[in-house]
Amino acid sequence: MWQRTTLLQRFGSISLLLIVLLGLVTGLLLRGVLRDRTIEDAQRTAVSVAVVGVQSQLTPEDLARDFLPLPPERIAELDAAMGAAVTVGEAGEIGEVDGFVRIKVWNPQHWLVYSDNRALNGRWFPGDDALDDALAGEVTWEVTDLRSPEEFEERDFGELLAVYVPLRATEGRFAAPDDTSAPVIGASEVYLPWQPIAAAIARDTARLWAVLAIGLAVLYAGLYRLVSRASIRLRRQAAENDHLARHDTLTGLLNRRGFEEQARQRLQDGTRQAVLLVDLDRFQDVNDTLGHDAGDDILREVADRLTTFAGDGDVVARLGGDEFALLRSDVDLPAATALAARIGELIKQPVSTAGLDLDVSGSIGVTVSPDHGTDIGDLLRHADIAMYRAKEYRSGAEAYRAEIDHFSADRLELASEVRRAISERELCVFLQPQIDLRTGTVVAAEALIRWDHPTRGMVSPGAFMPIVETTDLIRPLTAFVIDEALRACAELDAAGVAIVVAVNLSAHNLTDAQLLPTVTRLLDEHGLPASRLRLELTESALLHDPTGATRVLTVLRDLGIGLSVDDFGTGYASLAYLRDLPVDELKIDRSLVVAAGQGGDDEALLSVCISLGHRLGLTIVAEGIEDAPTLHWLADAGCDLAQGYLTARPMPADDVQAWLAANAASTRELVLGERTVVTT
Ligand code: C2E
Ligand code: CA
Ligand code: CA
Repeated sequence: MWQRTTLLQRFGSISLLLIVLLGLVTGLLLRGVLRDRTIEDAQRTAVSVAVVGVQSQLTPEDLARDFLPLPPERIAELDAAMGAAVTVGEAGEIGEVDGFVRIKVWNPQHWLVYSDNRALNGRWFPGDDALDDALAGEVTWEVTDLRSPEEFEERDFGELLAVYVPLRATEGRFAAPDDTSAPVIGASEVYLPWQPIAAAIARDTARLWAVLAIGLAVLYAGLYRLVSRASIRLRRQAAENDHLARHDTLTGLLNRRGFEEQARQRLQDGTRQAVLLVDLDRFQDVNDTLGHDAGDDILREVADRLTTFAGDGDVVARLGGDEFALLRSDVDLPAATALAARIGELIKQPVSTAGLDLDVSGSIGVTVSPDHGTDIGDLLRHADIAMYRAKEYRSGAEAYRAEIDHFSADRLELASEVRRAISERELCVFLQPQIDLRTGTVVAAEALIRWDHPTRGMVSPGAFMPIVETTDLIRPLTAFVIDEALRACAELDAAGVAIVVAVNLSAHNLTDAQLLPTVTRLLDEHGLPASRLRLELTESALLHDPTGATRVLTVLRDLGIGLSVDDFGTGYASLAYLRDLPVDELKIDRSLVVAAGQGGDDEALLSVCISLGHRLGLTIVAEGIEDAPTLHWLADAGCDLAQGYLTARPMPADDVQAWLAANAASTRELVLGERTVVTT
């Protein structure tokens, strides 16, 4: 702002200087022109005096008379004629420019042929340049006075304009002064009072200066107004740009930059500041399924709620995407945490958009200065970590604690590494065969992700999947696993081995609008029927959003894709609940499977699960089978499929064919042969 004012001021003074300069130059030029004009007028008068007074009374012969003054009677005649032809004013009262005060007629040899001052008649004078120029044929002038030697009894007329007019004659008659064809035979010198001429020049010049000054002043004022208006507009524009640079266009809230600036100002005076970082949960899903307009509606609504909720001193901002922030002064951590809880409740009110009432929720990270940082960068970063913690634990809000930081830093680093791993194709898919306990043959295989890390070696999913599952990375990762699993399935198919491949899904996959199109596209690409794919879902994934899950699962089942409840027995899912889900397989978790053959309550529970599962029409898979007695116990209990290290460890997908060639027979032997032994 300050800089722009100076800019206008600078323009003001520079243009003023230029205009004054322009005025001076123009004024001086015009004053010269004016003066020349006025003098030209006087000259014209002098010329007419010369023509009317002199040429009419004198003859060319009068001028040809060397040395000899005109006879007195001729002079008297001339005096009378001159007096009649022109006005002769008294000294001091000469007011008429038209009048002349003295006249002299020179012959070419500088003899004064006639002057109305008789004392001068018939005398010789050296003359000057102006006289010589006139005798050479030019009308010339000079400003002079007649304070000549006393002997000539000249009066003091003050300053005079002496105009020399050449006298020309041809064939014994005078010709016009500008008739250059006629030779110059003398010159007449007419003295006009200079003071009225000078006064006229001064008057006109003053007028000129006035007009010029007014004109330029008006020009300057107009120009200044124009520029200052433009500058106001520019300033307004700049202010607008400034506003845009600090605000979010969708919600009108401050953006990250604006927020950080305000926060920095507040942090400067050392007062306690609380930062609440709010991130909407599953916002991407809304965008994906209902479109960006619905997403925008939600963002605007949340912005409105936060603004209405915020107090006068609070700073509310949309930091980007679905991330909002609130800064409040003078609150301690407990108060800030309570505030976060209230904001969480506020956001939870359903939002109406696209004809639906959508459940919205947010995860909030809380930090306070100076405990969690003294600059806004640290406070936001720590709030981000706390917010992720809240997301992961679905706790709504979390205050930052140093203990979660280390983990979070690792987590963030790992997430970015996984991102890279996907693009660098460091991930690969292992398959673990599942054996039909009635026939002893491999009928299916579970796809298990592995990370072929450049320095850490083969990393198992337990080390990175929990993190991946909290980010959007889960989507491309799942698509990758399905793609690889189906590729392996198609290759085995081509080799005459028809198996089903099972792929694990996360809770987030169920809210992904892209899941169905991706699955159908991949089946299509690999030329496989839907029945060759089975998707495994954990109880917790199913319970996360039972209605939503049921909807998606129904579509998948209708496509012909097999659905399996994974890790059964670790959660709270009741068998009654399973009845309502469109699933066709139950995978009993290893923690329950180990009870096989042990007797006791757990073994009883395992039996019940198998028989009840069957009653519900589900295929029962036991996973994590590490020893033969367990395998056989399960086979006897009616379990359908077996998966575990005993029969096969997860192996690279490309190795399955060779493994089958080498192990199919011994596996069947293991399953059927020993069973025969047990049963006999
Ligand atoms: P899960 O779905 O329960 O997979 C079975 C896990 O048990 C696998 O561990 C497998 O290697 C292991 N396992 C198989 N047989 C035995 C056995 O006899 N004894 C014991 N102790 N373990 C056995 P893994 O491969 O480390 O996978 C761990 C978890 O990671 C999986 O549990 C699954 O929840 C998740 N996961 C793996 N791949 C994917 C994937 O592509 N997508 C998703 N969303 N999750 C995956
Ligand atoms: Ca599984
Ligand atoms: Ca499992």
